[in-house]
This record gives sequence, structure tokens and C-alpha cells, in this order.
Amino acid sequence: MIEKLKCNIDDSLLQVMSVINMNAKGIAFVTDNDGKLCGIVTDGDIRRIILQGKSLSIKVGTVLAKDYSYAVDGDSYESMLGKMSERVKMIPIVDQDKKLINYFEYHTSAYFPVSTPNLSGNEFKYLFDAFMSTWISSRGEYITRFENSFSAYCDCKFGVATANGTTALHLALMALGIGTGDEVIVPDLTFAATINAVIYTGATPVIVDIEADSWCISPEAIEQAVTPKTKAIIPVHIYGQACNMGAITDIASKHRLKVVEDCAEAHGAKYRGQKVGSCGDVGCFSFFGNKVITTGEGGMCVTNDAETNDRMRLLRDHGMSRTKKYWHDVVGYNYRMTNLQAAIGLAQLERIDHIHQKRKEYERQYREALKGGVMNFQNDIENRDRITWLVSVVLDKNVSRDDFMDKIIKNGVDARPFFYPLSDMDIYKDYCKTFTENTHNVSYHGLNLPTYESMLDIDSIIMRIKEVMA
Ligand SMILES: *Cc1c(COP(=O)(O)O)cnc(C)c1O
Repeated sequence: MIEKLKCNIDDSLLQVMSVINMNAKGIAFVTDNDGKLCGIVTDGDIRRIILQGKSLSIKVGTVLAKDYSYAVDGDSYESMLGKMSERVKMIPIVDQDKKLINYFEYHTSAYFPVSTPNLSGNEFKYLFDAFMSTWISSRGEYITRFENSFSAYCDCKFGVATANGTTALHLALMALGIGTGDEVIVPDLTFAATINAVIYTGATPVIVDIEADSWCISPEAIEQAVTPKTKAIIPVHIYGQACNMGAITDIASKHRLKVVEDCAEAHGAKYRGQKVGSCGDVGCFSFFGNKVITTGEGGMCVTNDAETNDRMRLLRDHGMSRTKKYWHDVVGYNYRMTNLQAAIGLAQLERIDHIHQKRKEYERQYREALKGGVMNFQNDIENRDRITWLVSVVLDKNVSRDDFMDKIIKNGVDARPFFYPLSDMDIYKDYCKTFTENTHNVSYHGLNLPTYESMLDIDSIIMRIKEVMA
């Protein structure tokens, strides 16, 4: 960010205005050719200069005020706070040679959310195009384009767009013939939609523990839970981490089980170089507002099996015959996505590599700044390419997660607790036959930190977390 605030003493006022316009902070720090700080210009300063009748082509160096506030690297938070005023909300930080290295910004009421979508690419263009075409319902070219591009991104032949991630899971299970009398194995650490989708089908969920290191469903626990009634497994790639798909698909083929991957938090993650969603029978994704890419609400099933694809399409569209309009051979659903959502999704997908890169970079900065404290960041596991969804940490046992979370939220940084163990909730507890030690160790000590593409204020976020840690 500091680069975006910088301009040179020889720049014209017009160039400075352009810098201010780009950084959207209303301010620029002026440096000489050695990178040393010479002054500060705000958009208000430029407005006053124009009103004085001066030209925008004059050099900024000729209009700099003599005195301005700045901090020196190492200054305490209190000392920097002391330089803030009604008018000054942001100051540069220099090193011992007065070279500009950073800035400090005070937010009176700023509140950093855990997540916020970034729609700065072709999102509006495509959405507007879909709108103008009047194909605003669930037919239109963006649906096909989004389905084709997203399934290709997942190394799958087919994609079936749905209303949301939960309907994607339900649709996949129904298309695979899961129903009453069947058992479906799910992890204890997941969002409730995973188990709810199983319950919708009439099948019985069987909750098992996770691996201590990856936080994903444990293959050993799956193996122990298999009975003659077991029909499917739902591995959940939790917090961007891929499950041990090798072991899971081995168990599945041994016992002839279906595998429905819940990829709602892991778009683009890989197991042994293979994209999640393409390892099992069907991969289910969510495009909710806080997911890696979003369509507002939305989801998708991806598969390499033509028959499953046909079945999912049929069930998604009311189970209506493809050849005979208003003729129904099965009870279907309306689980479709609209063309408007798909237009946004397509634009998001165009930028997914950039989005991943940004999220990774923020995770790196969190790790670097907060290491050695009470936070244990998510593990990297051999042969699994994790993505960063929401930066996930487990706090040391002697720290109260809820207290810690309360404090950072009070300090303006939002956070989320990890999912509670499903087995601790009254409505699900009977589906779990064993105590899930790993889930309990992780769930009650874990939290997610703000992570989103346009998190320019990461330095302030880290500073606020550090204040609580101190
Ligand atoms: C978000 C999420 C879902 C559900 O997706 P929706 O689009 O909100 O219905 C399912 N499973 C997991 C693990 C999720 O995080």
C-alpha cells in the first residue's frame, strides 16, 4: 500500500492528484529522489491551490507545507496516536534516515469485516449485459459459460449450476440415489449444510472425527464407521485444506461407496495435483458472499460422469422430461441459478488466480506478523495444495478463544469462531457414536481472521490484533 501513497517531489500537481485518486485515501506522501520524506499533500490541499488560481502543472515540491506530522519506525502505538487529530487521520512512518517505509492510519469507527466481496473486474459489465438481454431468469448464455468454465477450472467435464451450495449437496446425493435406509459418513467439523443435505434425503448421517493435523475428515475414522448400510462419504475440504482423497477413494472403492466432495471452502485446492471436486463422484461448491468467489448466492455440482450430470440436470429442473414438456417421471426440485448470478460468477472466475494470490499473501503477512504468539496457523500437509479461504488459526490451549475473539472484535477487527462440533448440538448428537477428540480440540480453540481480496488495511488489522495480544 505504501507505494500507492508515494509521489516524487518533481511530480506535477496533476500527477499527485492521480496518485490520490488511485489510492482512494485522499492523501499522498512526497519523497525526494533518495526516497526521503519531504512532505504531505491531501486532496484538500490541492483544492485550495486550485482555488488560489495556480496551475496543475506546477511541481508539488513548490507548494509543500513546512511542518507536517510523521512517525519514526519503532515509535509506540500511543505516540503515533498522539499525532492524530480531527484533521490528521493518517501519517507516514520513516526510518532513521527519514526514508519513507510505511504509514499509520487511525480509524475512529472503522470496522474490519471478516469478508467482503470484491466485484471490481468484469462483474458489473457482464451483469449489465445479462440484465439488458432480459434473460434474467435461469436460462441464458452466462449460465452455460459459467458452468463450462468453472467445471473446466475443476478439471471436470460437466458443471451444473445451482441456487446455492446446500442445494448442490442435496442435488448430488439425490442424483446418486442416496435415500432412506442409507448411511452417509460426514465429518464432525463442518458447516451444518453438509449434514442437513444428508438429512433432507432421508438417509442417516454418521458423524466421524477429523485428522489432528489437517482438520479434515479422518480416513481411519471413516473405515471404522462403514457398515453394510453405508452408501456415501462426504469429505469436506475444510478452510481451504484438501482431504486425504487417496485414502478416502480407496475406502470408497473397497466398499462400493459414492464420494461427494464438499468443496464449498476450497475452490482450486488440490490433492496430489488433482483439483478438489474432480477426485470423487461429484464435487459441490458454494458461491455465497464470503466464499473464495461469489455469485451472491449460488452453487455448482461438477462431475466427470455423463449419467450423473444428466440426472442432476433433470432433478434441478423440477424432474421435467427433456422431450415432453410438463411431463414428470421423478419428483424434482427447482434448484437453478439465474443468468444474473452466473454473469457475476463468470467475471469472478476470470480473476480467481489473482484472488488466490491476494489471499495467500495476506495469510503470509498474518503469519509473519503474529508468529511466536498464541496463534497456531493452519498446517501445510504433504501432497495437498491448500488455498487460503479465511485465514484460520487455533489458539494455545491456555488462551480463552471466546475472550480473545471478544477483545479483537471490540478493537474493530471482526473474527469468526470455528464451526462447533456437530456432535455437540442436540439435533445432530445422536448421529455420532464416538467422542471426537480431534474435532473438540480444534473447534473450541479455532478462529477465522479477516481475509478478502481488497484488504488494503491489513497493517491496521494486524496492529489491532497485536494490541490485544500484548
Ligand atoms: C458455505 C458452505 C456450505 C453451504 O453453502 P451455501 O451456498 O451457503 O448453501 C456447505 N458446506 C460448507 C463446508 C460451507 O462452508
